[in-house]
Amino acid sequence: MPWSLSVVIPAAGVGSRMGASVPKQYLLIGGKPVLGLTLERFAAMPFVVEVVVACSPEYAGTVHEAGRGLFGGHRPLVIVEGGEERQDSVRNALGCPLKGDLVGIHDAVRPMVTPGLVRGVCERAFEAGAAIPALQARETVKRSADGLRTLETVPRNEIWLAQTPQVFRKELIREVHRLAQADGVKATDDASLAEHYGHAVALVAGDPDNIKLTEPNDIDRVRHMLEPTHEADVRIGQGYDVHRLAPGRRLVLGGLEIPHAQGLSGHSDADALLHAITDAVIGALALGDIGSHFPDTDASFKDMDSRIFLRQAVELAGGLGYKVGNVDATVVAERPKLRPHIDAMRALIAQDLGVETGRVSVKATTSERMGFVGREEGIAAMATVLLVKGAH
Ligand code: MG
Repeated sequence: MPWSLSVVIPAAGVGSRMGASVPKQYLLIGGKPVLGLTLERFAAMPFVVEVVVACSPEYAGTVHEAGRGLFGGHRPLVIVEGGEERQDSVRNALGCPLKGDLVGIHDAVRPMVTPGLVRGVCERAFEAGAAIPALQARETVKRSADGLRTLETVPRNEIWLAQTPQVFRKELIREVHRLAQADGVKATDDASLAEHYGHAVALVAGDPDNIKLTEPNDIDRVRHMLEPTHEADVRIGQGYDVHRLAPGRRLVLGGLEIPHAQGLSGHSDADALLHAITDAVIGALALGDIGSHFPDTDASFKDMDSRIFLRQAVELAGGLGYKVGNVDATVVAERPKLRPHIDAMRALIAQDLGVETGRVSVKATTSERMGFVGREEGIAAMATVLLVKGAH
C-alpha cells in the first residue's frame, strides 16, 4: 500500500465514570490491561510502523510491559509524557519524529478495533487528508437543554457518532494541533480541530463492536467478545450400561417403574438408563465412572433409587460450573414395549438434570431378537450428555 501508519494513543486520562481506582485503560481483562489489548490489535496490523503512547509517568512501566514482545526494532513503541487534557497528550505525541505518512489517533479504551476498519479509514484519509469512522444514529435524536423536556427532534440522518482511530495526513494533523495551541482552541477529538481549521473530514462506516469502554458493563461486553471460548466451554460424555433381567425384581427405567414379568437385577434399583446417563455426566467431567463414585460394595447403595446417583452427578457438574445442555439416550430392550413410557421417563430425567423436558431425548429399540437383549437376558442403555459451562 502507498501509505504507512503511525498510531498515537492518548492514555493519560483518569476515566471517572468507571468508578474504579485504576484508570480504565489499565483495568485488566483476562489478565491484560485494556491498553495492552489495544496495543495487541495494532501490533497485528502490518501497515502500522510505530505506536506512540502518551501516559502519565507512573504508568510508563505498565505501558512498556503491555507492549513487550509486540513492538521493537524497526516497529517501536514510543512512550511520551501525557498532558493535562487529551489534546495536550496528542500534541506531545505528535512532537515525536513520526515515521508514518498517516497518523491515526486512537482511544486507549477501544480494544476491539479491527484491521479492516483501520485500513478503510487510512485509505480515505490518504485520499482526503482526514477521515474518521462513525456510526449513524439509529434512534430518533432529540435535543434537550435540561434533560427534562425536549426542545426539538434532530434529523437522524445528519447525526454521526465518531469513533477512532481518526486518521490524518501527518502534516495536516501537526499543523492543526500547532494552530489550536497558538489560538487556545480546545476540542474533545482531533477531527474537531481539523474541521475548525477548514479541513474536510471524510466519514467511513464505523464498527458497532469498536466500543469505547466507558461504563463498568462495557468491560463485561469486551470480555465476552474476547473470550467466546470461555462462554462456549462445552464437554461431552457418553455412558453405557447393562443389567440382567431376573424374575422377582421391579423393572425401573428412567426413574419409572414399568409393569413387567421380570425386572433388572443389581445392587441398586438397577436402572440401566439412569446409570448410563449418570456415567455420561461423570465421563464428561473426566472424573471416573459411576462405579468409582457409588461403589456396589457400599451397603448404603443397596436397592438405592438411581435418581439419587443422577442428581449427585449433576450436582458434581454444577460445582464445577457445568449445566446439562442436552441428553440423548437409547434403551435397547426386547420387551416390554417402552414407547408408552418414554415421555414420563423424559420428564423425570429432566427434573433430575434441572432442565426442561425438551432437552432430554429417550429412544427405545429392540435387538431384533439377537444377542443377550434379543434373548431377553438383559436390557442395555446408552447415553450422550452435553455439559455447558456457565449456561442457563
Ligand atoms: Mg448399572
